[in-house]
Amino acid sequence: MKDKLIRATAKDGMVRIIAAQTRDLVNEGSRIHGCTPTAAAALGRLLTAGVLMGSTLKSEKEVITLQMKGGGPAKGVTVTAYSDGSVKGYIGNPNVNLPLNVANGKLNVGEAIGKDGMLTVIKDQGLREPYVGQVPIYSGEVAEDLAYYYTMSEQVPTAVALGVLVDTDLSIKAAGGYIIQLMPGADELLGDLLTYRLEETKSVTTMLSEGKTIENIIEEIFDGMDLKIYNEEITPEYKCDCSREKVEKVFISIGKKDLEEIYNEGKEEEIKCNFCGTGYKFTNEQIGELLKNL
Ligand SMILES: [Zn+2]
Repeated sequence: MKDKLIRATAKDGMVRIIAAQTRDLVNEGSRIHGCTPTAAAALGRLLTAGVLMGSTLKSEKEVITLQMKGGGPAKGVTVTAYSDGSVKGYIGNPNVNLPLNVANGKLNVGEAIGKDGMLTVIKDQGLREPYVGQVPIYSGEVAEDLAYYYTMSEQVPTAVALGVLVDTDLSIKAAGGYIIQLMPGADELLGDLLTYRLEETKSVTTMLSEGKTIENIIEEIFDGMDLKIYNEEITPEYKCDCSREKVEKVFISIGKKDLEEIYNEGKEEEIKCNFCGTGYKFTNEQIGELLKNL
């Protein structure tokens, strides 16, 4: 099953749905960073959230960044997504390894991320000031935190599900999720019905590993509720857009003094991209050139 994103509405547009199956892109992110299962689940859930939220951006120029820093041993997770379905991310500590959550037998993402900190959502729309929304981390499990974010900052009742199932060989067996929002003016009973349906629904990863597609899952949840699925051509993908030029800017930003020091000591420098691990080498001569152009 290839990665896929769908958008849908139900009940005459009163319910809005974005859903995605994201196994391949989570697998790629996990492979690049050499994640343990706990780290893969934490990064994978946030990557999936990024893809879902990225698809709500209005233009190619817009970028959304999600950041969870909760003081846990994962040491922060950051994801950046675009409107075309591309997403990239990194986790502070890809080696974080915790025992399974006793309560539900799942990978312990909540403890890895930690509850002592903030979930930050940054929407850069190419204007001078980006939009920054922030809420305290509620559980560290990612989906609950995003639902809390939507409720607090956008006052829209929102249900979020995100799941990553890691196989014994560390590859990703299934990954996906959805965001379901109730529009203003919707009947209260509709909210109750949805809450009930979602409680009765199996987890996304369980259904995906049973061979269901993301459409099947949404069709099941919204059975008999006037569901309309819009098939848009968004293919979610793990993609890094780093370049030597961008890395150069970051390198220069350490300041003239530090650059001079590196240069005068005759050193070379390799700078690795946080998101994809690509190394950019700067010879001593090239560092000299950068200094000259400052
Ligand atoms: Zn990169």
